[in-house]
Amino acid sequence: MASNNCDKLTSSRIAIIGAGVSGLAAAKHLARHNPTVFEASDSVGGVWRSCTYGTTKLQSARVSYEFSDFPWLNRDDPTFPSYVEILDYLESYAKHFNILKFMKFGSKVIEVRFIGDGETPQMVDLGAYGNLLPGKPVWEVAVKTGDAGDIQWHAFEFVVVFTGKYGDVPRIPTFPAKKGPEIFEGKVMHSMDYCKLEKEEASHLLRGKKVAVIGFKKSAIDLALETALANQGGGGQACTMVVRTAHWVIPHYWIWGLPFFLFYSTRASQFLHDRPNQSFLRTIFCLLFSLLRAMVSKFIESYVMWKLPLKRYGLKPDHSFEEDYASCQMAIIPENFFEEADKGMIRFKKTSKWWFYDQGIKFEDGTTLEADVVMLATGYDGMKKLKAIVPEPFRAWLEFPYGVMPLYRGTIHPLIPNMCFVGYVQSSSNVRTSELRSLWLSRLVDEKFKLPSKEKMLDQFSKEMEVMKRSSRFYKSHCISTFSIQHANDMCSDMGLKPLRKSNLFLEAFSPYDSQGYRFHQEETN
Ligand SMILES: Cc1cc2nc3c(=O)[nH]c(=O)nc-3n(C[C@H](O)[C@H](O)[C@H](O)COP(=O)(O)OP(=O)(O)OC[C@H]3O[C@@H](n4cnc5c(N)ncnc54)[C@H](O)[C@@H]3O)c2cc1C
Repeated sequence: MASNNCDKLTSSRIAIIGAGVSGLAAAKHLARHNPTVFEASDSVGGVWRSCTYGTTKLQSARVSYEFSDFPWLNRDDPTFPSYVEILDYLESYAKHFNILKFMKFGSKVIEVRFIGDGETPQMVDLGAYGNLLPGKPVWEVAVKTGDAGDIQWHAFEFVVVFTGKYGDVPRIPTFPAKKGPEIFEGKVMHSMDYCKLEKEEASHLLRGKKVAVIGFKKSAIDLALETALANQGGGGQACTMVVRTAHWVIPHYWIWGLPFFLFYSTRASQFLHDRPNQSFLRTIFCLLFSLLRAMVSKFIESYVMWKLPLKRYGLKPDHSFEEDYASCQMAIIPENFFEEADKGMIRFKKTSKWWFYDQGIKFEDGTTLEADVVMLATGYDGMKKLKAIVPEPFRAWLEFPYGVMPLYRGTIHPLIPNMCFVGYVQSSSNVRTSELRSLWLSRLVDEKFKLPSKEKMLDQFSKEMEVMKRSSRFYKSHCISTFSIQHANDMCSDMGLKPLRKSNLFLEAFSPYDSQGYRFHQEETN
């Protein structure tokens, strides 16, 4: 696509792509640079607007899912807020900090082109990472707007990508010839398309239908419950969840009377876990601590098995709770989910392989499931979304060398100049991590500290990867939840801020690090 050479420079030096939680945090922290925020949809909120159903609620506690300088009004309310409350909270944040003025809604970035200094960077160059604001444009960004799909090019010195790991691009399973959705006489829909339906349409789609829900993560669980609720009373049909890998679910954040944060979210609890760049002595300690970690995991599993009928429904995972926690795979199960299962409205089929036939689904054990509607709650392909806009050769380096993005401090890709990515490395509280990374980024832009060489950044990432690989077979989900406090420590140290943020050593060791822990005073961040 050719850019016209006029009107490419906008008044901003920084482009932000996406106005979900991460884009909002960045817009606030980079406000003094007057960034331009391109958002494909017509408002803020990201997944909370595009990937939610009537029943979708937050799974984190309110205090874990808030911006440090904008507490929830009802932050002590122990219930999980609905997606409507979350959207309301995010809109209030945007208004409060006056960041809506940076937003260009209905503006989808469709292509990004590197101009740099005319030369394409080489992978072998592992020296210094340049300035984020070098004083001349580095990237051109093509933005599609309006119903007519007008395309405009803009030039920026620095592009911050917040397009999100979920939403927009569905992950659809593939099938051999004549075993795919084309031979099925019913309806096949991805959960993303279900989210777009109005309440009436959604209920009409599910009511009185034999529905198969594929998957057993948050979207699938909510969708199965929604199907069961739409089928109450005469004429209602049961829904069947097709489960390949069962993951641990918990009913709430209390385990045998103890608050959940004690197990993974305090310095003392994370002390038992491996962390990147640890000394040889610590590695030995962690090896010895593995027994204690296994006991913690079993303790939680014992509670879940007592509280929820996982065994009865064949849903006990084959791996430890710790592995799910370390890879951000754990979900909160809605209160009435197993009530519906007990009433026979939600059934489960464990299988590793399935395919379509004209009347429904066939399984590898030879059984079949008749269905009118097959809902694919099979997740999203956030990487495909990125690959659609990031040009070569950078596209080929996006997941180099481990199949996940080698993001230094969860933000900078050492091989891609003047572009960073926030919201791709997960933690147990994504608002907190996105906010901290945005603050870190704004200080980096202002040259309050310097990045190490590209080689050192890649090396740091490979150490993180080793830890993630040791902690969970699902390491590709790229999650830092078992060493999140160390990760935050490192960012604070880079910024010259105090990493120990509690008022005394006891609290430092045993109280959780929620967003308020990283509320920095004005004088600290000046
Ligand atoms: C159902 C569900 C429940 C969740 N529950 C929790 C939870 O309880 N706790 C938790 O910590 N996390 C949870 N998450 C994770 C959640 O993704 C993060 O908490 C957070 O909302 C992600 O924000 P983000 O800004 O990184 O991405 P997103 O919210 O995905 O925002 C990305 C934005 O970029 C825009 N965009 C994409 N491509 C383009 C483009 N080319 N041009 C312009 N704009 C573009 C999109 O329109 C969107 O607005 C949940 C996710 C889902 C899907």
